[in-house]
Amino acid sequence: MTETLLYEGKAKKVFETGDEGVLLHRYKDDATAFDGKKRGSWVGKGKTNATMSAAVFAYLEERGVPTHFVEQVDETTIKTKRLDMLPVEVIVRNVAAGSLAKRIGYEEGTPLKAPIVELCLKDDALGDPLLNWYHFRELGVPDEDLKLCEELGLKVNGILAPYFDEMGVTLVDFKIEVGRDGSGNLMLADEVSPDTCRFWDKETGEKLDKDRFRRDMGGVEEAYEEMLRRVSGGRSE
Ligand code: UDP
Repeated sequence: MTETLLYEGKAKKVFETGDEGVLLHRYKDDATAFDGKKRGSWVGKGKTNATMSAAVFAYLEERGVPTHFVEQVDETTIKTKRLDMLPVEVIVRNVAAGSLAKRIGYEEGTPLKAPIVELCLKDDALGDPLLNWYHFRELGVPDEDLKLCEELGLKVNGILAPYFDEMGVTLVDFKIEVGRDGSGNLMLADEVSPDTCRFWDKETGEKLDKDRFRRDMGGVEEAYEEMLRRVSGGRSE
């Protein structure tokens, strides 16, 4: 398969192939945080992110959620449909953490009464700000797309919270992105991984995600390995 680099991001490279409707996403072992100010890298990160995304997208597809996922090509690469991405980051939360804990003055770890959905503008230069529907309308994102983003986020949460719970993991919060295929259908895109979700061990509360890197907690390589093990069918002790 011919591969032409289309885009290189912080944690992945995206390639065009001979097939116009298809892209390859190759996940790197590199990580950044705080708008690229903090950089790091650890062995196995790309493998975990590609393999977990593949497993989760396949699981969601089986339950009626349309996604861009086609197949996993190798340890660090997944093949996807080519989409036009909405400039929206959809965040869904079950437990207060990170920016929400600060925003509403909750102690991190406080369970929410009901899931909270947030829509952020995908714009690194602006720091991905949290916007409301009026702002998005102004920027040309129609209400029906925002409605679908919120519904899709809640549906994905309704499927993935029990999926991870079975593995002994609390799905604290996560970010997804949405894109439109050539026929105009909106679907789930991007990735579902410890880079984009907060995962806490149900028993110990141990963090099994990128916060270990953001907060210099150590053990980040082991945390990603552990999440890969659990998603691949290994039972939690
Ligand atoms: N998130 C993400 N990319 C971003 C911002 C957030 O994947 O650019 C994820 C993050 O990993 C967490 C959730 O979205 O699972 C909520 O993040 P939050 O708003 O609390 O931001 P943070 O504390 O990471 O700044």
